[in-house]
Amino acid sequence: MTKSLNELSITEAARGLRSKEFTVRELWDACATAAKERNPELNAFLELFEADDVAIESAQKRIDGGEAPLLCGIPLAMKDNILIEGRIASAASKILANYRATYDATGVKKLKEQGALFIGRANMDEFGMGASTENSAFGPSRNPHDITRVPGGSSGGSAVAVAAHMVLGAYGTDTGGSCRQPASHTGVVGFKPTYGAVSRSGLIALGSSLDQMGEIAKTPEDAKILFDAVRGQDPLDATTFAPGTYPAFEIPKSFRIGVPHHLLEDGIDEDVKENLNATLKSLESLGHTVVPISLPTSVFALPVYYIIQPAEASVNLARYDGVRYGLAERGDSLLADYVKTRAEGFGEEPKRRILLGTFVLSSGYIDAYYRKADQARGVLRAEYDAAFESCDVIAFPTTPSPAFKFGEKSDPVSMYLEDIFTVTANLTGMPAISVPMGNVERDGVLLPTGIHFTAPLGADDLLFKIGALVTGETL
Ligand code: GLN
Repeated sequence: MTKSLNELSITEAARGLRSKEFTVRELWDACATAAKERNPELNAFLELFEADDVAIESAQKRIDGGEAPLLCGIPLAMKDNILIEGRIASAASKILANYRATYDATGVKKLKEQGALFIGRANMDEFGMGASTENSAFGPSRNPHDITRVPGGSSGGSAVAVAAHMVLGAYGTDTGGSCRQPASHTGVVGFKPTYGAVSRSGLIALGSSLDQMGEIAKTPEDAKILFDAVRGQDPLDATTFAPGTYPAFEIPKSFRIGVPHHLLEDGIDEDVKENLNATLKSLESLGHTVVPISLPTSVFALPVYYIIQPAEASVNLARYDGVRYGLAERGDSLLADYVKTRAEGFGEEPKRRILLGTFVLSSGYIDAYYRKADQARGVLRAEYDAAFESCDVIAFPTTPSPAFKFGEKSDPVSMYLEDIFTVTANLTGMPAISVPMGNVERDGVLLPTGIHFTAPLGADDLLFKIGALVTGETL
């Protein structure tokens, strides 16, 4: 069966464009038509863009000229918290519903230079706070495998756009798992780079020491293409690092895969565990080894994250005051302006995190909460560094269960528990990937699950390789 153009991977489409099997316009039309048809049901996009004829024609010319980068002419989705000059970037919040970006994010600028095309802005949990996309102020996205279930979050729209073949690849942001987790729930690949590998300039900040622009793709190879297109030091983001900052590493012929069995005993669905074990077995049969490791501090990762992240979020969200950006409600005093704007503009989850974050940073509690969490973060990193002496990558499931039903996790703590496996990579800054590892059945429907690998700082490329070993591609 031949695939329709929107079903191709980036690698396949780049090849087809170069061998003149189809044109950039035909590829755009296939994606735009699929997006228009499926978006009313899936709500992956908050806005679909009109075709940009100039960009399409110039991409075609560059491809015909034989010098085009791989993403030239490839239709992509951009999460609604990544700035594209002249376009609305609302972070799925009422407070920014009318905000138009005045400049391109560095990643977007690079993509435009490479001739990539943007189909639209993808739905998300408000400001990236959530694990289901239910926190979007503009309605949730739906999982294409079962529309009664969430796609995961916060980059749920980006993941749905890729999984439902509305685009060939997408960008999201990942502060605590927001690219990897929705990728796992929708059956695609999600990647979070080493902190500082990609510029945060032009990303609407959530947790500045945790945020990275991440990639969502159909294959590990495509994820690498998307990452390579945006990575690199940027004078506009002092936390981006120069080449040579991290020790060079070689991609091993035979991987040593560290598995922290003690973290996998409770709280994970049995069939998810079975998929994990089967995936590890098949890697062993290819000549790779599984090494038992111990990460005792990992049990504190989630509470540490839910102190540091709200702390940083409360500071980053202070700028939305009705004076500078977005919604501006007026009361009878300046203070009343602030209060009204923020009360009406923010949804429940941002309000909860502002309260929590302000509390853990307040003078009476900062030592007990924020500073302690920051110390624990250092211990976590040291523990991971030590574990990497006996293994090349660390593996566990991306989430404890497959995609859940809408409303099932209305208690915030049960929603936070969804992040149990993903937050550590953000706390340590380490790169991580989620790759599909087979389905599990719920209510007669097959739902995807994902295997999660973490690599040492700067060793991002190891992850595409191990990911390709799982999916059976050659890379
Ligand atoms: N689910 C996590 C949270 O709610 C992660 C969010 C993210 O990575 N943006 O904070």
